[in-house]
Formats: sequence, structure tokens, C-alpha cells
Amino acid sequence: MIKLQARNINEWGISEFRARYPLMSIVEQNGDGLLIHGPLKFRARSDGCEEIADSYQIRVEVPADFPRRLPQAFEIGGRIPDDFHKNQKKDLCLGAPIRLIMELGKEPTLVGFVERLLIPFLYNHAYFEKHGRLPLGELAHGGPGLVDEYKRLFRVQTAEACVAMLRLLGMNKRIANKKPCACGSGRRLGRCHNRRLNPLRKLQFRSYFNEQARMLEEQLKRKR
Ligand SMILES: [Zn+2]
Ligand SMILES: [Zn+2]
Repeated sequence: MIKLQARNINEWGISEFRARYPLMSIVEQNGDGLLIHGPLKFRARSDGCEEIADSYQIRVEVPADFPRRLPQAFEIGGRIPDDFHKNQKKDLCLGAPIRLIMELGKEPTLVGFVERLLIPFLYNHAYFEKHGRLPLGELAHGGPGLVDEYKRLFRVQTAEACVAMLRLLGMNKRIANKKPCACGSGRRLGRCHNRRLNPLRKLQFRSYFNEQARMLEEQLKRKR
């Protein structure tokens, strides 16, 4: 049985978060996660770009099964327009979920979420306000962004291969390793891309990957 990253609320690093972001308040949602809100003050820079110090009015909804499930972040000061990378619920589009999950896996705490995922997004927006462009060029968004992320992650060329990799991730590891690898090398997964897939198995349930495979497949069908 693979040990999934399941963490008690006591391991989310609440006191460390309070110490670093004393202006934000944290409200426990009796057994249903946390609500964090207030001004998020930061000082950040992106590779080769200027440092920016800024502050945004933010609300973060942290689900009870954090960090396996991602928090949703909202900008509530009316500064970020809806057409600047927001999802349907108007929460900030911090990037492709699989990339966010992997990044959060490196530091699965509230501070990890804010500093690795949220502040880089806010930095991008602050930079965009100043210069009319993003520091690292336009970011992929929505469906196409997700496919690109999986191609990079799996090191494969096509969306179809991404779906097949996700299907392998949706299977029991021992069974999947005996199947032909989805990259088309002719080798079994266990002798090919398994090293790229195994770390992901620690971050999500198999059902998550099957769900992602279905979603990508739907997208491909609509395109045809
Ligand atoms: Zn986006
Ligand atoms: Zn392979």
C-alpha cells in the first residue's frame, strides 16, 4: 500500500504561517478546513527580473484534505481583472493542477502554498500591471495548458500519449509496470517511464489520474 500524503491540520504549519503573515487572519471552518484572509504582503522576484514588493487582499479556502487537494485563492480587493488568469469560480488560476500538486509536494504546508504557488502568481500580476506583459511570456491557460504540462512532465510528444500515461497511473503499480510503456518505446513501463510516474503516485489517488485521463480524452474528442 502506498502511503499517501495525508496530513493532519496540526501539520499544516499554522503557527509558522501566522508568524510570517501576521496581517492575515485564519478561521477554522469546524472540521472543514480553513479560511485565510487579509492583506498578503510580499517581496519577490522572478529569474532575471526586478524585485517587487507589494500587497494584495486575498482570501484562501483551504480544504480539509489539504495538501492532497489544492486550496482555492481569491483576490478580493478588485485589483486583478477576471480575464487575467482566473478559473470559472473566479479563483486565481495558479497553473496546471498537476504542476501545483507537485510543487506543493515539496513543501506541503500553508507557507509552502503561499510562497511557492500564490506569491509567484501575484508577482506575475504586479509585473504585468507595471509593464503590460508577463515576466516570462504568456502563460498557458486551461485545457491546452494542462496538456502541455503533462507533455513536459511525462516527456512525451502527443496528447494521446499523455492520456495513456495517466491511464497507467490509474492502475495498480505492479500491474501497470508490466504493460507496454505509453511512450511507444516498445519496453514495459517498469523498464521505461516508471521513474517519472512513481513520484506522482505518492501525491494523488489512482482515481485522480483516471479522472484526468477522462478529462483530457474529452478535450481531444471536442477538438476532432
Ligand atoms: Zn490561467
Ligand atoms: Zn517509456
